[in-house]
Amino acid sequence: MDWISIFIYDTTWDFAAEIVIRTTIMFCLIILLLRSTGKRGIRQLSIFELTIILALGSIAGDPMFTEDLPLIQAVLIMSLVLFLYRFFTWFSTKHKLFELLLEGKPTYIVENGMLIMEDVKKGKMSHDEFFAEMRQQGVRHLGQVEVGLLETDGEFSVLLFPHEGTQYGLPIFPKEFQATKAIKDGQLYACMHCGYVECISAPNEECNRCHLSRGWAKALNNKIVN
Ligand SMILES: [Zn+2]
Repeated sequence: MDWISIFIYDTTWDFAAEIVIRTTIMFCLIILLLRSTGKRGIRQLSIFELTIILALGSIAGDPMFTEDLPLIQAVLIMSLVLFLYRFFTWFSTKHKLFELLLEGKPTYIVENGMLIMEDVKKGKMSHDEFFAEMRQQGVRHLGQVEVGLLETDGEFSVLLFPHEGTQYGLPIFPKEFQATKAIKDGQLYACMHCGYVECISAPNEECNRCHLSRGWAKALNNKIVN
């Protein structure tokens, strides 16, 4: 194995200096271009935005170290990508259908303290993922949640029940999200698959809502603390 060729190959001091200049220019250009998208910062990206970032990234990378690649070509391509981004964004505000195509639509995950089964089945998001999201927002059980919505940028929006509206619901913290082995009289249990709450008589009873028997966890009705 030729280590010299792996690390240095035909790099000259001259070209190393050129790389410094090329990289500095491209770096400044990326900042300039991303600033001019009008976005203030990026927490979560929609697929559409991610596409733009990926495109800009790969266009910006090559001219940093490719000797026979003039920067003007990269500038042209990046300007075009930016123009497309702006045009698509503008067009999607005019046409709802196009926006749907570009960004998708928000998805209901929880409604009235129960999980919406259709979307969970489609695999848009796993139990674990949105339980974690809700825990971070201070939710202890689904009975506190009126609406849980998955936004198109992957953010999770939660609308809580007011104190007096809090219902019995499925606990979402790991120690409480446990299938019960023995049923206590007068205790309510929540289906661990869909969050449906009922009085059951056996730990392996089938859920009346999702018709599965994935176990039952002791339902909670603690009010939200904020
Ligand atoms: Zn169920």
